[in-house]
Amino acid sequence: MQLVIDNLSKTYANGVQALKNVSLTINQGMFGLLGPNGAGKSSLMRTIATLQEASSGSITLGNLDVLREKHEVRKVLGYLPQEFGVYPRVTAETMLDHIADLKGIVDKKQRKEIVHTLLEKVNLIHVRNKNLGTFSGGMKQRFGVAQALIGNPKLIIVDEPTAGLDPAERNRFYNLLSEIGENTIVILSTHIVEDVTNLCSNMAIICLGEVIAQGHPAGLVESLQGKVWSRIIEKNELSFFRNSFNVISTQLKAGKTQIHIINDFRPDDFKPEEASLEDVYFSKIAEKMDTITV
Ligand code: ADP
Repeated sequence: MQLVIDNLSKTYANGVQALKNVSLTINQGMFGLLGPNGAGKSSLMRTIATLQEASSGSITLGNLDVLREKHEVRKVLGYLPQEFGVYPRVTAETMLDHIADLKGIVDKKQRKEIVHTLLEKVNLIHVRNKNLGTFSGGMKQRFGVAQALIGNPKLIIVDEPTAGLDPAERNRFYNLLSEIGENTIVILSTHIVEDVTNLCSNMAIICLGEVIAQGHPAGLVESLQGKVWSRIIEKNELSFFRNSFNVISTQLKAGKTQIHIINDFRPDDFKPEEASLEDVYFSKIAEKMDTITV
């Protein structure tokens, strides 16, 4: 099954054009949608999840017309929104049972089995009788995955899932998602490059509502190999370097500023750097920003 987004645009009532002619074809596996805050990721996720209307364009999931056959789409969709609110005084097991009931699993015994299997899968079976209000951020996210998995969805949308998780929780969450991604379409929307590097076999970068790059992460990184150079500079030299070179990122290193630039050959006093997905991300964003400031 494939998710095909064709020329999708969205303008909100206040005039903000959040999506501009977005076209993407997404296959089974983990797909990373990477972009800065305000890029349009949530607008795209909510539209695919049938939670809001598009202004124009189309989305198909297999034979389903996502923008029209919303009810059918919801049967095969799992959605983990950015802010996953939980009822603090309800246990994990009771809440999951209730959501399964809402999703149409009416047989009580079948529901109990499904809830157990899912709680085991997300490693929350030992805390099934604890109130959700006592859960850590990582546990809440894993509970969110469990509810998104009810009914064996064919498409799972996860919006900014690792914000606020500590490194150990983030790792556990990565492992869980990559297991799920094996036979489902999973779209992971994030502004954290590391999430995509660790998890996704395909990706797109979105900025100001437009897709500005797409492909395999490794292929995108390869295209920059041999073109990334770094140099440690004083903070007050930054504007000089910005004027003289294509600076894609700056990073504080032990009180000094390290800049990464893109150039076809090595300028004097610069060091070669192995290209990374972060370099791809920052160079594409910088390119896009340049087109609007010129
Ligand atoms: P992201 O998820 O990448 O941070 P969003 O899709 O939330 O981006 O936002 C894209 C743009 O659309 C932003 O400029 C945002 O302010 C605007 N926007 C998002 N939701 C709404 C809304 N409901 N009404 C008006 N503008 C919105």
